[in-house]
Amino acid sequence: MKQKTTEERAKKYLEEIERNNLKGKKINAILHINPNLIEDAKKVDEKIKNGKAGKLAGKIIAVKSNINVRGMICNCASRTLESYKAGYDAFVIEKIKNEDGVIIGMCNMDEFACGSSGETSAFGPCRNPTSIDRIPGGSSSGSAAAVAANFCDMALGSDTGGSIRNPASHCDVFGFKPSYGAVSRYGLIDLSMSLDVIGPLARNIQDIQLLFEVIKGKDERDATSDELKKEKLKEKIKIGIPEIKAEEKIWKLVNEKIKNVSGKDIEIIKIKLPHVDLAVQTYYPLCYTEFFSGTRKFDGRRFGKKIEDSCGREVLRRILGGSEITKAEYAGKFYRKALQVKELIKKEFEEAFKKVDFIILPSVPKLPHKIGEKISVEDMYAYDSLTIPANLAEIPAISIPAGKVEDIPVGMQVMGKKFDDLALLEFAKRFK
Ligand code: GLN
Repeated sequence: MKQKTTEERAKKYLEEIERNNLKGKKINAILHINPNLIEDAKKVDEKIKNGKAGKLAGKIIAVKSNINVRGMICNCASRTLESYKAGYDAFVIEKIKNEDGVIIGMCNMDEFACGSSGETSAFGPCRNPTSIDRIPGGSSSGSAAAVAANFCDMALGSDTGGSIRNPASHCDVFGFKPSYGAVSRYGLIDLSMSLDVIGPLARNIQDIQLLFEVIKGKDERDATSDELKKEKLKEKIKIGIPEIKAEEKIWKLVNEKIKNVSGKDIEIIKIKLPHVDLAVQTYYPLCYTEFFSGTRKFDGRRFGKKIEDSCGREVLRRILGGSEITKAEYAGKFYRKALQVKELIKKEFEEAFKKVDFIILPSVPKLPHKIGEKISVEDMYAYDSLTIPANLAEIPAISIPAGKVEDIPVGMQVMGKKFDDLALLEFAKRFK
């Protein structure tokens, strides 16, 4: 059978979006469609015909609304930047375009990436295509939902405390948070700049590898970016399983999945990561402070509206909280303390990785709630208790579909050593 052209595939995805994004199931994963989509796809088909196409030729990609794509509205799902059109491409977008990936549109998300449910978007909540009355997770809600709903081949998200892995887990797709610095943040509208990373979401591990291969690498415009190690997978692999709390049914699925890992020479070792329990409490002072500082540019003079006058409750909570923490900081009470604990957690992982090659645990400790169900701020923040540790330790981590509990998808998280991202992805292929 003749392979479909990029143009035909783009049209098929558009039909699917037409049917299920704002109508039908109303998934609300895509906020804006690329007006030049078909033209862009035709150009790639021309290149394919001439044998000149790049690595991403034929791939159709959706982008989280906090990543600048020239000419597209990148409003972070906020009224503050409602009609802000990006004047330039983020580093990752330059790379994607150079390799002939086609951008289909911009994804819904939690406002300014603040949230774990997709409900804080100013443009209505995003729905979970696999369990339509439930949240898709967040904050890269639309990116995960778009991949799960067949609106694109792959998507870009950003992960500060779990925002790629958490929705990937709830939506039954793969989501990869690279090591901090493995991908340039140039062109990402930041939530917390010392923790943010851009990464891929897809329906299979090969597409994750492909997109990551393209977007990774050192960029002069982001001094924290760097090249990766090129370590090969070892012959004998040691997997560490930490003693951490998650719903029993979720642990059960993850344990079954671990048993099915292929390869004869796998050794499983129980490990302890005692300070991981402090992850959520450590993350929020860092996030609030850096978010407060980063949002000072949204004063209504250069971009959009003044943020305090136009944002939702969760964003305002963080701005007010961050401003208080900053005031108290002369005593080094919160931000500096949190940095100390971050260092402690980072060290704890470094020690663990002297004994094991990878660490496996659930991605999210509980099942997603129903859209609109009232849950406390503490419960909302607790969704990320198992993903935040990798951000604090700056290490790569991937969420892999692990099965379903009561028809709701559950993800398994595999973590690796800092800058060992390529080996981690190679290993992730072994899970069937
Ligand atoms: N859910 C976390 C938060 O609300 C993480 C967000 C993210 O990773 N962008 O801050």
